[in-house]
Amino acid sequence: MKVVYKNEVIFKLIYFVLISLTGVFISIYSSDRTVTVISILVPIIYIPLAFRKEIRRFRLVKRQFSLEFREIISEYSKFYNFLDDNGKQKFEKDINIFLNEHSIRGIRGEETDLRTKVLVAAGVATILHGRQEWEPPFTDGVVVYPGETFDPEYNLHKGQIAGMAGERRPLLVTKEILEQSFMDPEDGYNSLIHEIAHYFDFENPLLSGVPAIGANRERTEEWINIMEEERAKVNNGKSFLRPYAGFNEAEFFAVATESFFERPDVMVKKNPELYELLKGFYNIDTQKILKR
Ligand SMILES: [Zn+2]
Repeated sequence: MKVVYKNEVIFKLIYFVLISLTGVFISIYSSDRTVTVISILVPIIYIPLAFRKEIRRFRLVKRQFSLEFREIISEYSKFYNFLDDNGKQKFEKDINIFLNEHSIRGIRGEETDLRTKVLVAAGVATILHGRQEWEPPFTDGVVVYPGETFDPEYNLHKGQIAGMAGERRPLLVTKEILEQSFMDPEDGYNSLIHEIAHYFDFENPLLSGVPAIGANRERTEEWINIMEEERAKVNNGKSFLRPYAGFNEAEFFAVATESFFERPDVMVKKNPELYELLKGFYNIDTQKILKR
């Protein structure tokens, strides 16, 4: 997540110039003083309104990172602990921005505890770390279910669902599985990373399991070939990915993403081509980071 996106700023500045020029013309041709005052005031008011996101983010970045947050991520995020100082700073910036701009609440809209909030933000900061120009792919916030699982009718403590991603609706995770996901950073299982990966898939509705970015025809074919080969291994019980990856293409992509962020060493050894594809997509060399 960036504080300032160049294109957005250029766009807003062009608007500012247009509004100002219109104001100048109006005040030249109008003899009414009120009209002149309004045409001067509009561009002045426009600036803080148009740049409120940038101003807010700038202030957030300048703010000292909470020691409480740092304690939680140092305890739970192996990825954070392996980053260099610059990487840690980026990670902390993303946590601050995410917590400020996205809601994380319980099933009745109630506040969730601080640790859960920071863990959710840490998952987002991990998966977006290599792609600073990306924003979190969901806009309706996160709802944290109590316990470990819920069923398809959303009954608590039943069924086998530990998280759910849906287009234009909040991301759902369960509190206990979220914590467990961070407690064992090398098991290749992280419910939050898994669900976020699904959102990248939604961006390409025609091709399940093939995220949209960079998916030109050649790359799409390459992606599908590598995916299908590994999926066949999953279905024969011969893959390093957990069996759920065989469920369908979308689950394959989400499970492979979890492994990419948690067990890159194993992925490089077992399927270097898949590793290279994910490395390109997420623009990050997780093996190199987690080796430091
Ligand atoms: Zn899934």
